[in-house]
Amino acid sequence: MKILVINAGSSSLKYQLIDMANEQVIAKGTCERIGISGGKLTHKANGKEFVVERELPNHTEAISLVLGELVDKEAGVIASMDEIDAVGHRVVASGEAFTQTTLVTDETMRLMEEIKELAPLHNPAAILGVNACRAVMPDKKMALVFDTSFHQTMPDYAKLYAVDYEDYQKYKVRRYGAHGTSHKFVAGAAAEYLKKKPEELKIITCHLGNGSSISAVDGGKCIDTSMGFTPLAGVPMGTRSGDIDVAAIEFLCRKKGMSMEEGLAYLNKKSGMLGISGVSSDFRDLCKASDEGNYRADLALKMFAYSCKKYVGAYMAALGGLDVIVFTAGVGENTPTVRADVVSGLEQFGIVLDPEKNRLKNDGSIHDISAENSKVKILIIPTNEELVIARETAALL
Ligand code: ADP
Repeated sequence: MKILVINAGSSSLKYQLIDMANEQVIAKGTCERIGISGGKLTHKANGKEFVVERELPNHTEAISLVLGELVDKEAGVIASMDEIDAVGHRVVASGEAFTQTTLVTDETMRLMEEIKELAPLHNPAAILGVNACRAVMPDKKMALVFDTSFHQTMPDYAKLYAVDYEDYQKYKVRRYGAHGTSHKFVAGAAAEYLKKKPEELKIITCHLGNGSSISAVDGGKCIDTSMGFTPLAGVPMGTRSGDIDVAAIEFLCRKKGMSMEEGLAYLNKKSGMLGISGVSSDFRDLCKASDEGNYRADLALKMFAYSCKKYVGAYMAALGGLDVIVFTAGVGENTPTVRADVVSGLEQFGIVLDPEKNRLKNDGSIHDISAENSKVKILIIPTNEELVIARETAALL
């Protein structure tokens, strides 16, 4: 069975064609600048990279180009589109309309329209991606795979905000979390690596990238996560503030003459590591600047690690113990100093890092970086959100 995984952004579209027999990626690529001039497709297959520069006025043109490449004589990997058994679409927010992976139908797409405002930057793009695929492949079975599904198991007392309960009922305002496919993948991979059943383990998964979130996973089920109603909450991120007293926002908006919308853009795009350091949102730049003695870059890194550490402590308490900490995503997989700072000082709780193992360069495989005497396993696990989407799509069919 071959599954095409689509991750549509407002002006981009990423794809992977995955052969489920061996879970290998047989082709992947990205369309950029959709709807803007200078459209470009970068397609990787058969050990080569193919670049097509062509105007891509909309997502339907982009997906047509992708399908053309997939069956192309040189760049192609399949003889015809019939070899694609189904398409899995990544969707950021589900609200309470969807709790699990769902088949694309007219009815589910109507519901998708209704919940669009929950993730105004992301969900409309996913709808464009689905509609484009339906236009080009009308008979193909398709699934909606939600970033929020893995977090649906959070108990009420963890997922609700302490606002008027009737407003929760009426407007569905609560914690939904994000990066669920990644947290699910690495929690499952950790159990497999340790040769344990997921039910036997208490795991804290740290997805640390440009966007970051931390989850508490008890017996394979998510019981809490750091992101909230939107991906703005939790630890500070590349350009997002993370948790902040909302009264400080009202104050800042007043002082800087910003509307609520501008205030949110400020928190989403100009805050976090970028705002504190004034250098960059990219951890590679921050580490370099910090090494060169830049106080604000160093402060940003300290704030990030401190916030992650507080979540680890809180989730250890929420889980009532801990067996495994997983680091994943761009920063979690590649930045030893961040990992070391997050777990430093937690030795008395049985969390002991091996500094040598922690320094090893990421080679794309799973690594145990805990010391011999560590009660808690500390693992680096490369995430694979596309594979989860493909697995979920295959399972639905
Ligand atoms: P996103 O949330 O956009 O998916 P990623 O998970 O790709 O983000 O993480 C991007 C972050 O990972 C950047 O801050 C980058 O500096 C950091 N990073 C550090 N080392 C590497 C590396 N070798 N490769 C990729 N990203 C890295």
